Amino acid sequence: MSKPDIATLVKLQEAETEVVRLQEVLERVENEKNKLASRLKQFETALNENQEELERAQKACRDNELEIKTIDERIVKSNENLRNVTTNKEYQVLLREVDDNKKRKDALETELLELMDEREKSSGIVTESQKEYQMLEEQIRSEQAEIEKRSSEDRALLNEYLEQQEEIGKTLDPKLMDRFRRISKMNQGSAVTQASEAVCMGCFMNIPPQMYIEVQRGNELVSCPQCSRILYYGTIK
Ligand SMILES: [Zn+2]
Repeated sequence: MSKPDIATLVKLQEAETEVVRLQEVLERVENEKNKLASRLKQFETALNENQEELERAQKACRDNELEIKTIDERIVKSNENLRNVTTNKEYQVLLREVDDNKKRKDALETELLELMDEREKSSGIVTESQKEYQMLEEQIRSEQAEIEKRSSEDRALLNEYLEQQEEIGKTLDPKLMDRFRRISKMNQGSAVTQASEAVCMGCFMNIPPQMYIEVQRGNELVSCPQCSRILYYGTIK
């Protein structure tokens, strides 16, 4: 191995560091977007529940009103029949019927007042939560758009670094490229690091003296015995 390879590897590492950083940023952004979407979804579910509640209250009112109407018709009919009765017994039966129906109607009317009250409350809740939902939706949409804008810049940058790595890769021995990839994977995106005062700056372990001399000479690629990172000495640009 010759010295220029080290310089190339250092460039490759610089791009790798950026690639890993940007991938992490983009992943966080994706999580953030998902979190916002699920918050909106939760609110939507609550809104739907409120709407269902209102529909139930509306139906209860309608059912009650319909029953009152039926009873009214029955009372009218019983009153008509009262005019045609011939016996006292029939008269008593019909009178009781009218009386029972009137009682039932009273009870229904009392119930209807409560049901109407519930319907009104429920309607207020729906209106309120629709307003809140619209506000939240607007807020979340704009946050998501902002996130999208930022992350598209990061994605473009990530692609630049990936292309840069590909270009560098063309000039490197494929075996060396494989070695770089493998070590990078082991160390969360760090495959090449400086050795300073006989210490690996990647894992901060001491490098054996003979090995450190080889690193300083730079005639061959030396891996740290602890973390496997490829070591270089001094500042390489
Ligand atoms: Zn090390």
